[in-house]
Amino acid sequence: MDKVKNIIVGCGITGITLARRIAEEKNEEVLIIDNKDHIGGNCYDYYDENICVHKYGTHIFHTDNKDVWNFLSKFTKWHPYMHKVKAVIEGIEIPVPFNINSMEMVFPSCLSEKLQQKLVEKFGFGKKVPILELRKCDDKDLNFLADYIYKRIFLDYTLKQWGVKPEDLDPLVTGRVPVYVSRDDRYFQNKYQGIPLNGYTKMMEKMLDHPLIKVKLNTSFNDIKNSIEYEKLYYTGAIDEYFDYKFGELPYRSINLDFQKYDKEYYQSNSVINYPENYTFTRIGEYKYFLDDKSDKTIVSFEYPEAFVRGKNERYYPIINEENLALYQKYLDEAKKDPKLMFLGRLGDYKYYDMDKAIERVLNMEI
Ligand SMILES: Cc1cc2nc3c(=O)[nH]c(=O)nc-3n(C[C@H](O)[C@H](O)[C@H](O)COP(=O)(O)OP(=O)(O)OC[C@H]3O[C@@H](n4cnc5c(N)ncnc54)[C@H](O)[C@@H]3O)c2cc1C
Repeated sequence: MDKVKNIIVGCGITGITLARRIAEEKNEEVLIIDNKDHIGGNCYDYYDENICVHKYGTHIFHTDNKDVWNFLSKFTKWHPYMHKVKAVIEGIEIPVPFNINSMEMVFPSCLSEKLQQKLVEKFGFGKKVPILELRKCDDKDLNFLADYIYKRIFLDYTLKQWGVKPEDLDPLVTGRVPVYVSRDDRYFQNKYQGIPLNGYTKMMEKMLDHPLIKVKLNTSFNDIKNSIEYEKLYYTGAIDEYFDYKFGELPYRSINLDFQKYDKEYYQSNSVINYPENYTFTRIGEYKYFLDDKSDKTIVSFEYPEAFVRGKNERYYPIINEENLALYQKYLDEAKKDPKLMFLGRLGDYKYYDMDKAIERVLNMEI
């Protein structure tokens, strides 16, 4: 029987951050395993045609947390990058989140000016207004605007992405893309934003480069669980899978990413363009924009959301509602019976985490 003090299941950004902390702060050995053939989980990227491609869809690092930024900055330099997203509405590319610039592109100036004035009076300049809140306005002009944005930007996109209407989602999800009463075209307003200069994978390789950290890929927890003794098991895989789905399956949305390579310098005018109204895909990401990679080819991905089906595709977004959270809680209560075991990460916590929040969770926990 092999022995190790700490095992981490899952070599994503959560597991890797934890491995580094255990090795560095506790001076203890740690074995980190992953059933994939690469490190990094969803943040994994690789080079093709001199372009850094994000295998699991476009990833932009952004945070207000200085500790998280400083922690990662020990392992990478940053390419300064401010993310902007466009959406094709009635055939025109406009900035999203919808803001005053977007408004001026889709409405005649007399209408746009009237709406701007009413928005500023009602909410104040610089405010971010969730679409479902804007829809509650009793003013008929603001109502018209809310209906326009709801229908053009949110309704079909949400139906494609989640399979339900915006009002049937957790408000936190729709609240993530509010309407901006400003001219700020940036997708995120965080203080720290960027892309690791040599990609996420290189950064994570450095995080794992410590004499007390041992990495084993192509290894699922089931492969080793009966042949290894450990004092602590940190599990960043799916909590329902660990318990063999004994209370039922936790639902997720997935995405079919269709990667295409084109023999031209650029495919589109921006790194990410959303298609809320037309087509069955939700957005197209073009990877060379992130690090300003130079190549006479370009690589893009078309995102087709779909239900998660075990064995067929990847778990991407947890579907947060009361029923699913109650089911998650059952698993968590079960987990608490084993003092050696701890769940964390987006699959262990059944939570959507941006990368910074996944790291923050680990930096703040007791080890
Ligand atoms: C499409 C998409 C776009 C995103 N874009 C952004 C973005 O722009 N900015 C941002 O900040 N965040 C973004 N995120 C979120 C980001 O991907 C997550 O915060 C991050 O990946 C969480 O890392 P994790 O380690 O918790 O989980 P994961 O990356 O999923 O890592 C878990 C690992 O565990 C392994 N595993 C699971 N079960 C087992 C098992 N039984 N045995 C062995 N190994 C196992 C898996 O193979 C996986 O590698 C995006 C997410 C998605 C889905």
